[in-house]
Amino acid sequence: LMDYSKKISKQVAGIPRSGIRDFFELVQGRDDVISLGVGEPDFATPWHIREAAIYSLEKGFTSYTSNLGLLSLRKAISRYVDDFFKVNYSADSEILVTVGVSEAIDLALRALINPGEEVVFHTPCYVSYLPSIALAYGVPVEVPTKKEDNFALRADMLEAAITPQTRVLMLNFPTNPTGAVMPVDELEKIAQLCVKNDLIVLSDEIYCELCYGEDEHVSIATMPGMRERTILLHGFSKAFAMTGFRLGYACAPAPLIEAMMKIHQYAMLCAPMTSQAAALEALENGEAAMLEMRESYHQRRDFVVGRLNDIGIECHSPGGAFYVFPDIRKFGISSQEFAMRLLEAEDVAAVPGDAFGQAGEGFLRCCYATSLDELKTAMDRIERFVATL
Ligand code: PLP
Repeated sequence: LMDYSKKISKQVAGIPRSGIRDFFELVQGRDDVISLGVGEPDFATPWHIREAAIYSLEKGFTSYTSNLGLLSLRKAISRYVDDFFKVNYSADSEILVTVGVSEAIDLALRALINPGEEVVFHTPCYVSYLPSIALAYGVPVEVPTKKEDNFALRADMLEAAITPQTRVLMLNFPTNPTGAVMPVDELEKIAQLCVKNDLIVLSDEIYCELCYGEDEHVSIATMPGMRERTILLHGFSKAFAMTGFRLGYACAPAPLIEAMMKIHQYAMLCAPMTSQAAALEALENGEAAMLEMRESYHQRRDFVVGRLNDIGIECHSPGGAFYVFPDIRKFGISSQEFAMRLLEAEDVAAVPGDAFGQAGEGFLRCCYATSLDELKTAMDRIERFVATL
């Protein structure tokens, strides 16, 4: 019998499975469960966007595209990014279309990191960050964010984590799993630290359209000295409800895009043409549908935050994304145990906060991209459950 453990690279063997995946294998095939688990819109992709994909197939657009992505799509991305983020990137050399932001994160880390160099990131964070850094032979350095700061990253805590080996800072605002947004003055301090320490910033702004406050989303790429050292990542999965299309993009100075391209052209060749056709339609005509979905998330956020606090589970009102991150520490059990017992007792699935790093222990991630009716039922069940603790 072959001993496969000796066949698998140490790097891969050392990577833990996603805590979310473990948890959701328990939920699989149980249709009685209300899931607040998976971080994905409950909407199907707007019909006109699906139609654009269908038309592209009808017309026989089934080939490879340029490695960088369709020029028409890159031009549309350039206009959109200019308009939304107020930063200009050349469609010819500064935009790379990828298979989701997921691929762009992997490309960027592999393009930037030499073995042993440090990558700083804030936790709790999206589950792929730590493994992606490790797979690129980087050394992950976590900076915890705190409930007292509404899970924004504090410049003083970041500064304390920076060493001469630090090469890259990863940012994700609005944040998965906390919904945090950054106060602009604090983000400016962080930008200054990046300039001072000559860091490259990988800024994952995949939730940027989904902000519910008065203030507009501000990208660190717009701050003094930052455009030249920022890789701005964005995609279509969240705001346009296109997770299954697997489409994202990176915007950065040409030499950085060229380095990422080198990996992309051999590993992926190009993003799927059908998805690129759909994404072009999303950018050209998708704004109304996107704003409608955002309004609906906004309502649901207010409902869920209101109910959780009424029930006696402290929960700040997150500025963006579609997650709430309630504090369950007062119940005196771990977030794993809380999530397990909630699932067993009341058929509600939410993700234990420690799946997003140790800084998430004592919290629960609930995705509210689920119908209001289901959210109401879920909140009633959570209320009944906490009464038993
Ligand atoms: N980045 C963050 C912060 C996410 O939450 C997710 C998905 O949940 C991704 C990236 C991956 O997105 P994509 O579907 O574009 O690969």
